[in-house]
Amino acid sequence: MPNQLLQSVLFACTKHEDQRRKNSNATPYINHPVEVAEYLSRVGGVDDVEILVAAILHDTIEDTNTTAAEIRECFGDSVLGLVLECTDDKSLEKSERKRLQIENASQKSPGAKQIKLADKACNLKSILVDPPKDWTISRQIDYFEWAKKVCDGLTGVNEKLDEEINQILDDGIRTLTDRLNDEQQ
Ligand code: ZN
Repeated sequence: MPNQLLQSVLFACTKHEDQRRKNSNATPYINHPVEVAEYLSRVGGVDDVEILVAAILHDTIEDTNTTAAEIRECFGDSVLGLVLECTDDKSLEKSERKRLQIENASQKSPGAKQIKLADKACNLKSILVDPPKDWTISRQIDYFEWAKKVCDGLTGVNEKLDEEINQILDDGIRTLTDRLNDEQQ
């Protein structure tokens, strides 16, 4: 039987092939979903293949031309369900999407909560190391403050992921506040 996880990696590689991240090195986009899945496994001890596959696919519907029908056909209904839970409605204003992430976090399934926590963890870590080119330090702090509110609704499923995200958020906000103070001196 074909290996679903490898199939999902190839699928996501193809879908994201022309995309780059917003950091200064414009890293290939596919690095991000692979990082999220690896983080879930290494930090969270997650070995449920459907969750790992959905982590690899979590940005395909939101950010590429991938349809729900394609994911269902290739990976089945439960993977599709998880991916949809991690997909923002791009027809809404960005501020509304951000508000809904906070509002809906606690109603997600346990699998989706873990994927979203890993997604936030990877995004926050990369902002600290190599932020998007046009982001000021205040904007980075705002992002951390917003992410903290989303993550509050996502915790309570996986203790290791919870511990790690709290550490990343606390350290990150402290580091960025220091950077902001240095900048203002
Ligand atoms: Zn993501």
